[in-house]
Order: sequence, then C-alpha cells, then structure tokens
Amino acid sequence: MFNLIGKVALVTGGNGGIGLGMAAGLAEAGATVVLAGRNADKSATAAEALRARGRKADTIEADVTDEGEVAQLFQQVMLRNGRLDILVNNAGTTVRKAPHDLSLDEWNHVMDTNLTSTFLCCRAAHGLMKEGGGGKIVNIGSMLSIFGAPYAAAYGASKGGVVQLTRSLATAWAADNIQVNAVLPGWIDTDLTRKAREQVKGLHERVLARTPAGRWGIPVDLSGIAVFLASSASDFITGTAIPVDGGYSIS
Ligand code: NDP
Repeated sequence: MFNLIGKVALVTGGNGGIGLGMAAGLAEAGATVVLAGRNADKSATAAEALRARGRKADTIEADVTDEGEVAQLFQQVMLRNGRLDILVNNAGTTVRKAPHDLSLDEWNHVMDTNLTSTFLCCRAAHGLMKEGGGGKIVNIGSMLSIFGAPYAAAYGASKGGVVQLTRSLATAWAADNIQVNAVLPGWIDTDLTRKAREQVKGLHERVLARTPAGRWGIPVDLSGIAVFLASSASDFITGTAIPVDGGYSIS
C-alpha cells in the first residue's frame, strides 16, 4: 500500500530542510526523486547523500517563481523519467516584518515563492498526471495557514492561499484521479526557522511550551506523511490540510 517503486516524484525545494525530509521518505519507499531548487551545489550534495543510501535521486536547477523555468523543469522531468506521479510543492520563504513595514516587492516575493509557484507547478503537473492515469500532489502550508502572527502577514496570506488552492484543485481534478492535499508543518528545525529564532525574541521557548510533544520537529518527521499522501493508501483522501505539528495546533 505504501510502495512507491516505479513512481517518479518531483520535490521543489527538495535540497534541504522539510523538502529533503519528504524526499528521503519518498525515496526510501522506492520512488525516484527529483530535487528542484535554485542552488545547484546544495541540490547535488543532497542527491548524492540519498544515492549513497541506495536511493534513486536526481536534481534539476529551477526557480519555481519563473513561469518559463517551471515549464522547463517539468519538460526535463519527463525527458529524463518519462512520467510524473508525485509533486511536492515545498519551496518557500518568508520576510519577517510588521505588515506596515512590508514593501510591495517583499510581499510579492513571498507570494510568488509560496503561492504562485504552487499554482504554476500544479498547473504544469496536471496534464502529465492525467495522461499517466492519475497522480498525487502535496502542497506545504504552515501553522500560519491557520493562525496569525504580527511578523507574518505575507507569509500567512500565502500559506492560507495554499490551503484554499489545494481545495479548489482537489475538486477540479478528482475526476482525473489526482489527489491534492496540504500538509501543515508545525515548528520544524531548518535553515528557515533558525533565522526565525534569531529574529523573533522568545520564539524558541514559546514553541517548546506550546507543543505537547515537547520538542521542535525535525525534517524526517515529515517523511511519513509524504509517503502516505503519495501512495495508494490515501487514494480516497483529497483536499485536506493535515497538521504535522506535535500537537501545536490543538493546544
Ligand atoms: P528551507 O529554507 O530549509 O528550505 C526552503 C527550500 O525552498 C530550499 O530548499 C530552497 O532551495 C527552496 N526555494 C526557495 N525559493 C525557491 C525558488 N524560488 N525556486 C526553487 N526553490 C526555492 O526551509 P524549510 O525546509 O523550513 O521550508 C520548506 C517549506 O516548509 C516552506 O514552504 C516553508 O514555508 C514550510 N514550512 C516550514 C516550517 C518550519 O518550521 N521550518 C513550518 C511550516 C511550513 P534553493 O535555495 O536551492 O532554491
């Protein structure tokens, strides 16, 4: 039920953090994973580490905010693998500032990276998955898809948008046997949140105090949900937004 042998998975931002945690799970279940990011060296190192563990991993350099680069990315995936079964839209960023201090450029950068890229990649995947008989799309939201934060207006708007986009795509593409779901990670220790802990005073302690599991998450905590949502085990699940947060959202 959880076997992904023969499947091809594209993970945007798969060269580090949560994306790499998810890619590692998919590869362990047998999928060929394609890691897409802007930093080719970082991607090469991540893919090499997976291959050293006997997994199938490839890399493609792409900026997913660029419509032309997204088209080339999917073309390359098809040229190299002949199919696309799984798409994880994980590339993301933030700018931590009060809303009244955000420039339009900063707002657009966050929306383009987190939300518009997800739309572009989903749109590019749809025809390929439909032709292949179906597919699995996993979009990465956040606790800020649910909650607000004074330093995360653009980020929260983009991640709320990811959940609503997920629901619309799920309804549109269910008849094509494409399941579209969102994952809402809690606080996970990555490059992104290392910066947050420097920039937001008291964040580290507040997260620990509120998380029933009593710890920050680590990227490998996202491996299992990636496999579940990418496998036939989740064939009747679509349009959901599943927290993976050690209980943060219910406490
Ligand atoms: P990282 O900063 O470690 O990873 C972000 C990834 O996105 C990098 O691999 C980066 O690769 C890639 N990326 C960024 N911009 C682009 C772009 N324009 N084109 C292609 N790739 C891009 O952060 P996390 O692992 O923490 O975050 C991953 C996702 O999880 C994000 O969507 C984030 O919002 C979300 N998330 C994280 C949480 C956490 O606590 N860490 C909590 C909730 C959600 P490169 O630089 O090579 O382009």
